[in-house]
Amino acid sequence: RAKQRAGSACEFFEPRMNVRSRARLEAEQSLGRAIVEREFLLEYQPKFRADSRKLCGFEALVRWERPGLGRVSPADFVPAAERTGQISALGQLIIDTATQQLRDWLDRWGLLVPVAVNVSPLQFDDIGFADRLLARLDELGLPHQSLEIEITETAAIGHLGRVLPQLQRLRKAGVLCSMDDFGTGQSSLTMLRQLPISTMKLDRSMIDPLPEPQASAIVKATCALGRSLSLEVVAEGVENEQQAQAARELGCTQLQGYHLSRPLGAVAAGELLGRSLA
Ligand code: C2E
Ligand code: MG
Ligand code: MG
Ligand code: MG
Repeated sequence: RAKQRAGSACEFFEPRMNVRSRARLEAEQSLGRAIVEREFLLEYQPKFRADSRKLCGFEALVRWERPGLGRVSPADFVPAAERTGQISALGQLIIDTATQQLRDWLDRWGLLVPVAVNVSPLQFDDIGFADRLLARLDELGLPHQSLEIEITETAAIGHLGRVLPQLQRLRKAGVLCSMDDFGTGQSSLTMLRQLPISTMKLDRSMIDPLPEPQASAIVKATCALGRSLSLEVVAEGVENEQQAQAARELGCTQLQGYHLSRPLGAVAAGELLGRSLA
């Protein structure tokens, strides 16, 4: 009877595998088409000084506007793009869009705050990545400090050989660099010493339980570490005023989260920039 059951399980399983791989293939094909058709847009989530609440930067977050299907979250296609290698072309499109946006804002307002772009470690497998990025900034006449790279610690670990020399090159040239989602990886402290970063971003999972005492103690110690390394420390995912106050008191230097602002479309972000520079 067991044999019979195994057999029927098998029959049941195989067609489903085909459906799944066909779905994956279709997703890859439509992702490829979407890159060619430039169906992606960036939203910009503001970051504010923790003490004055003045605008101090934006984080660019990619969205896929699928014709007829609406807006797709990066969590649903960035991992797929990484699996298929399409992240290189997509990442390039994202950098081109963010830098062009910076140029437009600079033309309009005469001043800028830095824009951070999330970079997949796979993008560093292309050894020309850093040089191309610097050439792009120079071509547009943008100060190197107007661009920031966000990289997650877990992601960096597996690709250190490729990531490190290029990050060092970018940092020497003035590009800012954040360790994203700090506190969720496995060897945060080793990475802090090895990567030439200017900012650490405390993951929402560290900020969410504030002002609970245990969580507060961890954030406070982490901020002290950041300060002694002369790093900016951003609290991510701040959703209420209590968390904002706690994060500031515990030593975070910047705040980001729905409580301060949702990610904004390019027009709204530009208006916020203009107002805050005035
Ligand atoms: P991340 O870099 O840690 O970005 C923060 C995510 O948290 C964003 O989600 C943002 O919309 C969301 N968020 C911001 N404030 C709050 C808050 O107060 N509460 C909550 N619950 N969430 C908040 P999003 O845009 O869906 O992006 C998810 C992740 O996808 C990002 O995490 C990043 O790892 C990745 N990603 C986004 N854009 C890009 C990109 O251009 N390239 C690459 N390689 N990855 C990207
Ligand atoms: Mg990020
Ligand atoms: Mg983050
Ligand atoms: Mg995060």
